[in-house]
Amino acid sequence: MGADASSADVPSPSAARSALRNDCPQPVGSSFHTMWRELLPIGRYPDSGGYRRFAWTDADAECRAWFKAQAEDRGLTYEIDRNGNQWAWLGDPAAGDAVVTGSHLDSVPDGGAFDGPLGVVSSFAALDELRGRNARFSKPLAIVSFGDEEGARFGLACVGSRLTAGQLGVEQAHRLTDGDGITLPQAMEAAGYDPDAIGADPERLARIGAFVELHVEQGRALDLSGDRVGIASAIWPHGRWRFDFRGEANHAGTTRLADRRDPMLSYAETVLAARREAELAGAVATFGKIAVEPNGVNAVPSLVRGWLDSRAAEQESLDTAVSGVEKAAREYAAAHGVDLDVVRESFTPVVEFDHALREELARILGRDTDLKVPVLGTGAGHDAGILSGSIPTAMLFVRNPTGVSHSPAESAAEDDCVAGVTALADVLEGLACR
Ligand SMILES: [Zn+2]
Repeated sequence: MGADASSADVPSPSAARSALRNDCPQPVGSSFHTMWRELLPIGRYPDSGGYRRFAWTDADAECRAWFKAQAEDRGLTYEIDRNGNQWAWLGDPAAGDAVVTGSHLDSVPDGGAFDGPLGVVSSFAALDELRGRNARFSKPLAIVSFGDEEGARFGLACVGSRLTAGQLGVEQAHRLTDGDGITLPQAMEAAGYDPDAIGADPERLARIGAFVELHVEQGRALDLSGDRVGIASAIWPHGRWRFDFRGEANHAGTTRLADRRDPMLSYAETVLAARREAELAGAVATFGKIAVEPNGVNAVPSLVRGWLDSRAAEQESLDTAVSGVEKAAREYAAAHGVDLDVVRESFTPVVEFDHALREELARILGRDTDLKVPVLGTGAGHDAGILSGSIPTAMLFVRNPTGVSHSPAESAAEDDCVAGVTALADVLEGLACR
């Protein structure tokens, strides 16, 4: 299902007609539908139906051109900042206390259509909706598309927002290298941008009073609760650990089983332990990437390197799960005469979104209706999480019926996308028009 993203659920004109508000000149969601159709073909691979919109590639440039055109079509002031993030301003950016919304347009390898683009397209559609309501803005409003959120090319997520927030140093960013050996500066230069200009941008952040990111939910909490839209509470603490199992390379045909020091066996047992320990601790744990040396079909491996990704709502659960996996791995390694090194490659503590802003969103969304707006945590990282250390941030999630994301099967129903646009418009009106 959903293998062809052109058939992905999008708001159709009929859905727009049946949208939540009927009293505005343009039905809610009609501009969303138009924008969505324009974006759909960019960077999509016919074989998989998935997207490959990687930083500073041709597909990325096409997405950037699309964003610029949307800004100019609406008479917004367009700019690209020195870290490659795109901005579309309504009102004077220098006035301060701006309300900003947006997300990202890049993708993971063979990603889906919704992760990122749903937030950017909904932002422009929400502005259209507000203009249809003749909203009067008392603060500047900006729509942003952050560069290289997924980190698909250079291996580090949220590069654009991390640089802006000063959470990624310039030297470290300059050392980022893709799978073909191309560095970030080389890629930026090839795309026509100045890599020497990147770096922390506190002046820009100081102009922002609130940032709200709408995103497709990457789980099934809303589907299970029967709600279309939810508010994020926090991003779970998460990290990556590298497990190096070192044994002895040998001939697969002539080496007696009893004589082997096979790291694949201890790795395989560790994968099962990760599942077990995660279940016990109330966490999630995944070995999704592996490197094998010498990687020969007829050789007992000398090295198996596996990467563990683990996340949990509570720090304590995460610690319990990871220490349980490591303890089990050491026992399995010892049993097979294998050496084990465990290295924590990255770690991000829990990110709590701004409580006051979250309560404000709940108040705004519950104002006109009896709408119960669920508040939920997420195991996925976002630009909003990066920026939360610098400015008040909040997130809205739109229901994902399968919970699948980072896959061509990622989806959202047309009515839910329209509900997301309406909710975002209500939030922006509440924050920027009072
Ligand atoms: Zn995303």
